[in-house]
Amino acid sequence: MPDPAFRPAQPLPYGRQHITDADVAAVAEALRADFLTQGPRVAEFETQFAAYIGARYAVAVSNGTAALHLCALALGVGPGQRVITTPLTFAASANCVLYCGGEVHFADIDPATGLIDLQAVRALLGAHPKGYFQGLIPVDFAGLGADLEQARALADEFGLWIIEDACHAPGGFFVDSEGRERRCGSSQLADLAIFSFHPVKHIATGEGGMVTTNDERLYHRLLRLRTHGITRDEASFVNPGEGGWYMEMQELGYNYRISDINCALGLSQLSRAEAGLARRRELAVRYDDAFAALPGVDVLAPGRPGHAYHLYVVQVADRRGLYDFLKTRQIFAQVHYIPVHRMPYYERLGWRKGDFPQAEAYYARCLSLPLYPTLTDEEQDYVVACIREFLAG
Ligand SMILES: *Cc1c(COP(=O)(O)O)cnc(C)c1O
Repeated sequence: MPDPAFRPAQPLPYGRQHITDADVAAVAEALRADFLTQGPRVAEFETQFAAYIGARYAVAVSNGTAALHLCALALGVGPGQRVITTPLTFAASANCVLYCGGEVHFADIDPATGLIDLQAVRALLGAHPKGYFQGLIPVDFAGLGADLEQARALADEFGLWIIEDACHAPGGFFVDSEGRERRCGSSQLADLAIFSFHPVKHIATGEGGMVTTNDERLYHRLLRLRTHGITRDEASFVNPGEGGWYMEMQELGYNYRISDINCALGLSQLSRAEAGLARRRELAVRYDDAFAALPGVDVLAPGRPGHAYHLYVVQVADRRGLYDFLKTRQIFAQVHYIPVHRMPYYERLGWRKGDFPQAEAYYARCLSLPLYPTLTDEEQDYVVACIREFLAG
């Protein structure tokens, strides 16, 4: 039985990093090593992350947004290109298209999952001549794997590439039509997938991101774009080499590198990723059980296999009231997301309230509750008790 007198020792955010002594030691070791950046820990993190996710190649970058930008560049997004994504995501999933001069279009969500509604995508594709759209960016919202089998079929039919935004779902999967578990970000069905290592995500590096792919050509392009468009690979030189120092800038790239210091932390965190995921799922089951008996709280996709639980999302009628009430109890819930098309910048591009009614209805009622590996059972019981108290009015 929960202890009614329990009060958490610290405020409870919706998400937070878990840093151990081993993490600190790994970073200290990196600081004393020969390379602070462009050293062996970057490649090691890429290799181990690719193995964890089940992709052939991985390219570590400075953050998840840079990962998205590089993907859009590598796939040739530019003026006149049109890309479809979900309005229920972090702005970066859409912004990457605009960085490259392309056009963003949205398809509404499936309210049962918060994922992009592939029927709505099909309707949008069907309303234009073939070739009008070039790409699709599904997002594994909250940790639910998008159905990339269906997305791939649609993409093949209409000639689209796919970038899976898997920031919420390292270790997650969706179940395909033959009952197979398909790991999020494995890029078996997407062309490219991206991850973020911001501290609220499963694996923290401070700032950091990753692109995964099974496509060797895209992999080499991403490596070059990450470092100014410069290559030192002799086999790919355009001009004759002029000596050991020689390198070539072959296209306009960026400095989107990540440091060895960040990757030392990433490697240490990655070694605990499965344990963290298991704890998230355990906490999710505890929330599911508590809310199953609490009318007025709707849980998003409870018990769905493969859910990686970046977020634990509930929907309530008086979301604002609950948000404010929890704050007075030192519980800092969060809203994911204000739909991208409702942002003033996107409104200036022509999007309006009412354009994506499912995403807007979802936004009106959603709240992400505290969920992270170090959240204790007592703290979680306290969150549930506070919600119960609020609903009892
Ligand atoms: C966190 C996140 C990003 C951006 O990652 P950063 O590392 O913060 O740049 C992109 N998409 C989604 C869905 C995210 O959650």
